[in-house]
Amino acid sequence: MHETEPGTPLPPGSTIGILGGGQLGRMIALAAAQLGYRCHVFCPSPDEPASQVSAQTTVAPYEEEAALARFAEAVDVVTLEFENVPVAATTFLAQHVPVRPGSAVLHVCQNRLREKDFLASINVPTTRYMEASGPDALVRALRDFGAPVILKSAEFGYDGKGQVMVSQSSQAQEAWDEMRRHAPDSPAIIESFVDFHAEVSVIVARGLDGAISSYPAVENKHRNHILDQTIAPARLPPEVMERAEVIARHVVEGLDVVGLLAVEMFVTGEGRLLVNELAPRPHNSGHWTIDACLTSQFEQLVRAVVGLPLGSSERLANAVMRNILGEDIERWREFAADPNARLHLYGKRDARPGRKMGHVTRLLPRD
Ligand code: AMP
Repeated sequence: MHETEPGTPLPPGSTIGILGGGQLGRMIALAAAQLGYRCHVFCPSPDEPASQVSAQTTVAPYEEEAALARFAEAVDVVTLEFENVPVAATTFLAQHVPVRPGSAVLHVCQNRLREKDFLASINVPTTRYMEASGPDALVRALRDFGAPVILKSAEFGYDGKGQVMVSQSSQAQEAWDEMRRHAPDSPAIIESFVDFHAEVSVIVARGLDGAISSYPAVENKHRNHILDQTIAPARLPPEVMERAEVIARHVVEGLDVVGLLAVEMFVTGEGRLLVNELAPRPHNSGHWTIDACLTSQFEQLVRAVVGLPLGSSERLANAVMRNILGEDIERWREFAADPNARLHLYGKRDARPGRKMGHVTRLLPRD
């Protein structure tokens, strides 16, 4: 029942299980519905954005095996909308049902040190880095890499939380304590600071048959460490754009992902590309693909996990995507009244500061 081989996709009417209930899950479920699939969300709290548009939700902690077992029984394949699902949960599920992408991918992507070691093993350049077990490592990194450096928790960091920039040895203890306040138990990494010209990402899909399809590199602008704006495609020389896609394709292949991979990179002033982070799921910087590409990132993920051939990722228009954060949601009438804006709202009730409430995509003529 749960078997899917290349060439024998799960038929429409099958159920896709989604781990996580946020807006990414919501947009996966919407894309799945378009192709005739049902979704069943598994997440720890009720009435999440994905549950609102899915046939079924199991509300339970990721650690609860009895709930996971019932979920596995009720779905035909499992995917995820955030990478910090405990590997124990995906490994348990995989005994009963295909999980795409699988535990091995999550294991790498849940830890910045493992991620960078993996990238080094397949000859993908990153900034210089070292593991840090205490403030002394900061002194060593400042000496070896030069100032400044960034201390980060290696696990569970997001939106810049658990990150501290350090310029002098005298700040080492204070920086360490600051990082520890956010991440008391996580291993830590120190990275050489990249004085980047731009931040870009490439989203790449890989099907069950191994076929790969990528979107062009896009430029990401952050505010308070949160993505504010994505400009698609990035305004970079063609040669750099091409190299970014080649890197992303190489990584998705090396990691053996079935599904999506977002590859975040820094572009240096000399046009070098250094990979910063990987996310094995749909990515905020790919939301523009819903309105501007023949096949969105969400549909590519659905196609990959059910074993359909990937669609064309051809770009039909250029686009600028802006997130609607926190109380900006109060301007929904204004966004909705703009005939040139494609509005996407996530159904979240509570507009906490910085929370992603929706996004607006503006289409521009394709260049
Ligand atoms: P991350 O959580 O690794 O995506 O980091 C959040 C943001 O901090 C990135 O989008 C960059 O703007 C900045 N940042 C992270 N690492 C570095 C680095 N090694 N050099 C320069 N900026 C960085």
